Amino acid sequence: MKKVILIKYGELTTKKDNRKFFIKTLKKNIFNKLSSFDFDIIDDYYRMFIIPKHDDIDDIVLHLKDIFGIHEIVIALYSEDASEDNIKKISLELMKESNLKTFKVETNRSDKSYPIKSMDMNNIVGGYILKNTSFKVDVHNPEVLLNIEIRKEGVYIYNQRIKGLGGYPVSTLGRALLMLSGGIDSPVAGYLTIKRGVELYYLYFESRPHTSIEARNKVISLARKLERFNSGGKLLVVNFTKIQEAIYKNLDPSYLITIMRRKMYTIAERIAKKNHCLAIVNGESVGQVASQTLSSILAVNNVTNYPILRPLCSFDKLDIIEISKKIDTYETSILPYEDCCTVFVPRHPVINPNLKHIIEEEKKFDFEPLIEEAVNSVEIIDLKEKISDLL
Ligand code: ATP
Ligand code: MG
Repeated sequence: MKKVILIKYGELTTKKDNRKFFIKTLKKNIFNKLSSFDFDIIDDYYRMFIIPKHDDIDDIVLHLKDIFGIHEIVIALYSEDASEDNIKKISLELMKESNLKTFKVETNRSDKSYPIKSMDMNNIVGGYILKNTSFKVDVHNPEVLLNIEIRKEGVYIYNQRIKGLGGYPVSTLGRALLMLSGGIDSPVAGYLTIKRGVELYYLYFESRPHTSIEARNKVISLARKLERFNSGGKLLVVNFTKIQEAIYKNLDPSYLITIMRRKMYTIAERIAKKNHCLAIVNGESVGQVASQTLSSILAVNNVTNYPILRPLCSFDKLDIIEISKKIDTYETSILPYEDCCTVFVPRHPVINPNLKHIIEEEKKFDFEPLIEEAVNSVEIIDLKEKISDLL
């Protein structure tokens, strides 16, 4: 008898046509995540079994908890010997570890040549546990559900389940470009997008020397923290200084943020296309700041036809903070280094920008050469390299 891990796919079941592709990708993602472990995988249409070769099952489970597309993780006892007596023995051992009071047995027989029917096995094992423990049966709302899965290769028995992250396996839905600032919101927006099976590249606008190397390192750390869930591995850094200075020197100060964000979107779209990203993602939340009123979003969005995903659009800040703590980006996000948006904040940013006025203002300076220069001189940081190589 040995301990193995059983994985249930959850939401994948709703994607019938793509199921094989989803399972194959999930398997690849598991191999990548568990590259430092030694194990075998058996997969089928409904489940995946991970069979560790060493005594490190708890560590493996910890890693599996960070993989999207896994609905439930179960540590099961496996035995080649699927005889009635052995099943009874293992089931009793497992139930004796629990100090709860009510239970129910559920048998699943994928090996239809097995001589005992599922219902009969439920009764046999249920009766045996009733006789040898103080458990009572509760078929409607049991505290412990004892599962017996009989397959060709043997039997799997378990009574505990760990919730997985859910969502879809990363990269099954293509790639997008996350506008990643050093704030609290954008890493959370990224996390929620990865959850839907989208692989992310990260895009950071920096304005050295107005922003510091610490601000850049903070964004690198946030990107690395998101890599725990992602597989993209690339941070693209745009040198935004000249554009920001040009806006600052030449244009209406109350429109500084609106126009700056329009330039960010313009650049993001071009970089997204070059890098085969099918959408741009950002951390905007309606109403959170002056640049996130609906009329600001309308004025900024106007520069692009590209899909802009805003997973946080309806979130309250407190809910965003809760997720950022869960994914371990919060403590990094609150470090005090200046972002390029905060360096040039006007005293009175416009809340309801007027598009006609924006277009008039933008005519005062020819941004196109600077935009092309910024797009062509993007610095690519490979997040798969060691930290010491990056900082
Ligand atoms: P965050 O907490 O994510 O910084 P925020 O509430 O501070 O967001 P803004 O500064 O208006 O809001 O930025 C809105 C979104 O624009 C950010 O969530 C991020 O996606 C993007 N963004 C802002 N600044 C940058 C930057 N320097 N580089 C890349 N993306 C940025
Ligand atoms: Mg910000």
